[in-house]
Amino acid sequence: MRFVSPVLKHVAYPVLHHTGCLRRITPIGGYSVVNYHGVVPSDHSDPESFLDGNLVQPEVFRQQLQFLKAHYHIIHPDDFRARIEQGKPLPPRTVLVTCDDGLVNTLTDMLPVLQSERVPCLFFVTGASCSNNPGVLWYEELYHLMRIKPLNGLEQQLPTEDGTESPAPKSFQARWWSTVRRASRLDARARTDWMGLVRIYCGPTRSLQSERRWRLLNIAELKRLSEAGMSIGAHTLSHPVLSLGSEEEARREIRDSKIEIESALGRPVWAFAYPFGNSSTLGEREVRLAQEAGFTCAFLNVEHWGDGPSNLFVLPRIHVTKNTTLPEFAAHLSGLHTRLQRAVGG
Ligand SMILES: [Zn+2]
Repeated sequence: MRFVSPVLKHVAYPVLHHTGCLRRITPIGGYSVVNYHGVVPSDHSDPESFLDGNLVQPEVFRQQLQFLKAHYHIIHPDDFRARIEQGKPLPPRTVLVTCDDGLVNTLTDMLPVLQSERVPCLFFVTGASCSNNPGVLWYEELYHLMRIKPLNGLEQQLPTEDGTESPAPKSFQARWWSTVRRASRLDARARTDWMGLVRIYCGPTRSLQSERRWRLLNIAELKRLSEAGMSIGAHTLSHPVLSLGSEEEARREIRDSKIEIESALGRPVWAFAYPFGNSSTLGEREVRLAQEAGFTCAFLNVEHWGDGPSNLFVLPRIHVTKNTTLPEFAAHLSGLHTRLQRAVGG
């Protein structure tokens, strides 16, 4: 949901939403999956506008859940699993609620809203949340470290896209993303070592002070989320851009995240979500590896997957962001947005 035409967002969708038209349209395939990345915690006083774009305010989250409850059938993740494993159709206008990454605010700030609205959610966490000291997402930490000062040659220790050094992109965000892609070519251990060098070079960052905003759930917190009745899925061990590493490393990231979370929680993990979850960060190899790892299904973070056949390992999701208005949310749920994009070849 990154780009929406301003006319659709500010004119067409509000009119269609307020007249109730959107609620009468059935989603493509009969059901929708919505995806969050957590909510803005109350102790987060230093908003970082770019990375914070993935989080929604708790009251907006509540409003969206209330809209779903009023107009859709929210399915429990276990029922979703049972139906797709048995090949049974989902009830009309079904919505599955999911959330990626496993930040601490999912337990401290998001769970209370889910509980008070009595809505179940499928949380996708990384292998880091099976440890006592999970730290923060490496690519978010890298963003803050690169903000302190340019890496000044440290990127050159990383593999390049095509073996040659190309000129650094001009904008900060493009430089950061290019570095994330290069570091994703390393295996997890080498990437951790390289991040250690960056940390020493750039010095401490004060931007990561809010634990609830940035830190990942530790094992005790993950167990609390699971014991609160929420479902847990896998999101790799270390959240790399999977398609850029070796096949062996991608297999390990996918398969071992299932094994580690299952052994930490003592429960089967049947669902997987691809990190970053779009066609520039995963390909057919990752889809095959998710299938081979024994998951029932795997989720994207986008609403359509090229022209390839849709199957249980490329399930589309509606990515809800800070800027998603309620009419826009309704337009995506109804499938109207995707139909319009397809009609204009977008
Ligand atoms: Zn993620």
